[in-house]
Amino acid sequence: MNFDSYADRVVGMAATLVNALTPGEHGGRPVDTDEAGLTARCAAVLGRPVQAAEAAALGRLAERLRPAFLAAEDGATDRVAELVNALLADYRSTPRLSRHDGEPWHLHFAGAGGDTEWGASCATGLAVVVDSQATGRLGVCRADGCDRVYVDVSRNASRRFCSESCLNRTKVAAFRARARATS
Ligand SMILES: [Zn+2]
Repeated sequence: MNFDSYADRVVGMAATLVNALTPGEHGGRPVDTDEAGLTARCAAVLGRPVQAAEAAALGRLAERLRPAFLAAEDGATDRVAELVNALLADYRSTPRLSRHDGEPWHLHFAGAGGDTEWGASCATGLAVVVDSQATGRLGVCRADGCDRVYVDVSRNASRRFCSESCLNRTKVAAFRARARATS
């Protein structure tokens, strides 16, 4: 998938936020969503220090992004569009051309609404995915004991797992099941 570099980057961030900040399982283990560690997890995702208020806002954003991935996995495109429209409205995504750090002019979508700049960006990135009829590129890991999400950027849209480790674990389990069935 290559909508444009910006959308690719922010949709990737949407998946990263969902995976780091929403409860559930990753590779058979519960995801640590302990409140006390939230700020540190956000800082790890953003690669910079994060204040408690922003961390809480990122947590709320992640909770709202996750259903869009679940609906996409179910093929419920209308539902994805509905969820993304609500995000665009609530985070007041505002396109603005920007040029900095020696980059050419490019679009930013930081909004005036909400309390984290990532809300408007993630909402807009997901809107570009829907607009490109590419919601099939958003998915939820098919491995047992895992519900993390992913953005499929493979050439042939073949991705089904959140990570190499989930892919490998599933392959090994399938191999063992076949071996048992034939022995
Ligand atoms: Zn997984």
